[in-house]
Amino acid sequence: MRSDPITYDFSDFQDFQTLDADSRAQISPDTLRVNERGDGFRRATGLADLHTHTRYSDGVATVEETLAYALWRTPLDVIAITDHDTIEGALRARDLAEREDYPIEVVVGEEVSAREGHVLALFLHKHIPSGLSVERTVELAHAQGGLAIVAHPFNPVFRHSMQRSVMERLLRQPESYPDGVETLNGSFAGIGSSRVARGLTQTVYHWAETGGSDSHTPTAIGCSMTRYPGSGAEALRQAVLDNATQPLGSFWRPREYVTYVSHTLAYGTRATLGGADLPVTAFARMRRATFGRFARRRVTAVVESLDLTSVGAR
Ligand SMILES: [Zn+2]
Ligand SMILES: [Zn+2]
Repeated sequence: MRSDPITYDFSDFQDFQTLDADSRAQISPDTLRVNERGDGFRRATGLADLHTHTRYSDGVATVEETLAYALWRTPLDVIAITDHDTIEGALRARDLAEREDYPIEVVVGEEVSAREGHVLALFLHKHIPSGLSVERTVELAHAQGGLAIVAHPFNPVFRHSMQRSVMERLLRQPESYPDGVETLNGSFAGIGSSRVARGLTQTVYHWAETGGSDSHTPTAIGCSMTRYPGSGAEALRQAVLDNATQPLGSFWRPREYVTYVSHTLAYGTRATLGGADLPVTAFARMRRATFGRFARRRVTAVVESLDLTSVGAR
C-alpha cells in the first residue's frame, strides 16, 4: 500500500484503467471529442506534446496515468514519452496504446543527456547512451531513422541546456544538424530562454520549431504543444522534416511545481522502472515527520509568489 503524500486531481479518471472502452466514453466529460477521434476523426491540424516524463525517469506519473491524462484531458493526437536516458517507459506506453486502441499515438523517445546538454531523440527503436557529444547523439538518432531536437536551449543557469557556442558549432556541421529546436519548453528550463530560442531559430538556425511540456506531473501534459499539418505520428515526423511545425501553449502552472517538488522531496528522483511503489527515502521520512504540512505550505507560498504564467513565449 503506497502512502502517497501527493494528491492528484485525478478524480474522474481514477477508475480509468479498470473500465472498458464503452464505459469510459459514457463517463468522460470529453465524450464527444474522444468518440470522434475513436471513430477515425481526422483533423487538418495535429497537436503533439513532444516532451514528457514518467516514473521511468524522474516523472511523478506512471505510464498509465500519463496516457490517461493525455487521452481524457488534452486535445493531443500524439504524445512523445521522453524519459531521461531510457526508452523503456516509452516502449511500454506505445504497446499499451496500441493494445487498447487508444485514439492517441505514442512516439518512442528519449531525452538524451549529451555532454553539451539535453537532446530529445524521437521515433527510436534503440536506446541512445548518455555522455556522448551532441554530434554523436544526433548521428545515433538519425542512424535508426529517428529525429533529434535540441531541448530547452539557452537557459543561462540550467546545466543541461545547450548554449550558443554549441549551437554555432552545430551550424558549421551540416552532417550533424539537428532536426529541430524546442522553442517552447513548458518547464522552468524554458521560461525566458524559450523566447531567445524562438528568435534565434527563426533568424539564424532555421531548424524546425517544436513545443513540449517537459511534464514531470500528469497535469502539465499538453501545456505546451507542437502544432503541425495533418494528424498522427507519421505526419508529425514529416512536418518536422519539412520545417512545418509551430510551438503552441504556455508554461507549467504553480501546482506543477508544488507537486513535483513535494514528490522529489519524498521520493528523490530515482526511476522506478514500471511505476512500482516508490520507496520513501529515510531522509524524506524524517523530513516529513519534522516539517510535514509546513514544508508543503512553504513550497506552495513560494511558487505562488512567482508570476510564472505571464512569461509567455508569444
Ligand atoms: Zn531536459
Ligand atoms: Zn525533460
